Amino acid sequence: MPKLYFKYGAMGSSKTAQALMVKFNYEEKGYNAALMKPAVDNRDGADIVRSRIGLEGKGIVIDPEMDIYEWFLQNQYDVLIVDEAQFLSVEQIEQLKRIAIEFVPVLCFGLKTDFRTLMFEGSKRLFEIADSLTEIKSVCKCGHKAEVNARIKDGKIVREGEQIMMGGTESYIGVCYRCWKEGRV
Ligand SMILES: [Zn+2]
Repeated sequence: MPKLYFKYGAMGSSKTAQALMVKFNYEEKGYNAALMKPAVDNRDGADIVRSRIGLEGKGIVIDPEMDIYEWFLQNQYDVLIVDEAQFLSVEQIEQLKRIAIEFVPVLCFGLKTDFRTLMFEGSKRLFEIADSLTEIKSVCKCGHKAEVNARIKDGKIVREGEQIMMGGTESYIGVCYRCWKEGRV
């Protein structure tokens, strides 16, 4: 049986680059791989999946109301690769699980927690029902493992606000819990 995978890490842990490389590897071997991303993540235009190290590719946009299972029945691929999977709904994660059970592997990449250290809805459901969980590790400035996605505004760590703020002036960096707690950036 194919599996539902969740490969998670903090900001700057090269998740998107890995998603793009996985797609490349599948295609190199002749498989038809779909790269997908939620519509909520519109940093780089609707359908561009871009990594910080410069790799990029075109993605299929997942709208908030999209039934991914129904979509898959009309668009048979050999594998689904989903970037920024934390932004998917519980229902959409369950649709991906069903695709993995009945048809093909589904590889999700994304963040585990938000800037308050709380799990995203999609990530939580992935932790609950994914067949495979892998942490993509990255390092805080202090040398410890980065695990919190700190929201930075005017050079300072912000710990309250909406979970998703698009198009604002804040930015995000991966830091360790202690640096986040003590406000060191
Ligand atoms: Zn640190």
